[in-house]
Amino acid sequence: MEHNLYITNSLSGKKEKFEPVAPPHVGMYVCGPTVYGDAHLGHARPAITFDLLYRYLTFLGYKVRYVRNITDVGHLEHDMDEGEDKIAKKARLEQLEPMEVAQHYSNSYHRDMHRLNVLDPSIEPLASGHISDQIDMIQKIIDNGYAYISNGSVYFDVPKYSKDNPYGILSGRKYEDMINNTRELAGQDEKHNPVDFALWKKAAPEHIMKWNSPWSVGFPGWHAECSAMSAKYLGMPFDIHGGGMDLKFPHHESEIAQSVAAYGVMPVKYWMHNNMITINGQKMGKSLGNFIILDDFFKGNSTLLAQPYSPMTIRFFILQAHYRSELDFSNDALQAAEKGMKRLLVAIKTLSRLKPGKTSDFNVDEFEKKCFEALDDDLNTPILIAYLFDAVKAINSVADNKMSITADDLEKLKSLMHTIVFDILGLIDEVEGNNNKLIDDLMSLILDLRAKSRQNKDWTTSDQIRDALKAANVIVKDGKDGTTWEI
Ligand code: ZN
Repeated sequence: MEHNLYITNSLSGKKEKFEPVAPPHVGMYVCGPTVYGDAHLGHARPAITFDLLYRYLTFLGYKVRYVRNITDVGHLEHDMDEGEDKIAKKARLEQLEPMEVAQHYSNSYHRDMHRLNVLDPSIEPLASGHISDQIDMIQKIIDNGYAYISNGSVYFDVPKYSKDNPYGILSGRKYEDMINNTRELAGQDEKHNPVDFALWKKAAPEHIMKWNSPWSVGFPGWHAECSAMSAKYLGMPFDIHGGGMDLKFPHHESEIAQSVAAYGVMPVKYWMHNNMITINGQKMGKSLGNFIILDDFFKGNSTLLAQPYSPMTIRFFILQAHYRSELDFSNDALQAAEKGMKRLLVAIKTLSRLKPGKTSDFNVDEFEKKCFEALDDDLNTPILIAYLFDAVKAINSVADNKMSITADDLEKLKSLMHTIVFDILGLIDEVEGNNNKLIDDLMSLILDLRAKSRQNKDWTTSDQIRDALKAANVIVKDGKDGTTWEI
């Protein structure tokens, strides 16, 4: 069928028809984690939102180059260039190498993303591995007159840039208003203006992560990495830049300013932002004591949790809301998601057992059209999932002999449900997955026992195992490369 994908571009605030710069290629960049702690619910939402987009674009036939970075240097505790580097601080507190901290939390992020069935990006660049690219970009900004050196640090000259370019086009902030609202922070006297942001910071002697540059031994500002690395791997302009809404300002606004100042190009055609997750109506935060890491969700390790929630429950819960709307976590909402997903997955299993009839009481073509219209409409997953439950109802009615469906329609519906639920929404039947793993484990135990009994010439036991497996329809084959089995 014909597809016209529309996505909301944060630049215009409107839904726009998706037309890539150079089809069939799509360049997509999503801001990844700053790796100084375990991934929490807030990390799951952008990861799953852009995983859905990546899967859908791939389904539509685009060749997607998906870049998701890892921030392992330069992200300071306060957004306006103040405080300690988040990773260096953790390293100091735990007496580790900063790169040890970064590696540890990158590993745990990957583990959690794999559990959530989030696909790996095509490229996952590290900020620390692209220092020279960032230095080159900063030098270009200085050469073009939009940055200045102050006491070994380099700052972006926001007022100067604003004269020639529309600063604030993404966040809607005007720098004149910002000046009035910005507190003068201690140590900011290096800046000509409080709204200027750091491109390069001179490192204090005790600072651990630092590199040589033309200006000082120091480290890049947080925003520099994404501009430098997206330009390097996707060129400019590229198609989609994504991230959480909280990154619009200052991070993404600064990215636009840096790219325009360095290369004279608006770097991105479509900016996309997912909304935030709240917990019982409250913002999530360490200081609020409602901060739950994903691993604790999976294990039920928190007083805020009534039970453990599986990775797929979390995934389904996030997909049940539109990515642009706020999503409030509560035990009730997660339990409802768990129930709903189970009904959906059971219906898909039922589907493979249905007997076809002579007529169809369920219009599969119409169902297909509606599902893809929902996806094409800015990834409207709540509407899509509502349609999936229409199909669930129909499947259960056919199973109860209250409705009928032809063999052709049955095949079509089966393949459609698989494509949408497993390939595009990225859900996994965890019960089936667990059962399969259990069967694998038990079979290897049984085959071990069988091999041992044969070694010991205990033919009674080995025959007993063979006969029992045969009765259970399991065929065991002994070959050159060992023993294999199939049901
Ligand atoms: Zn970024």
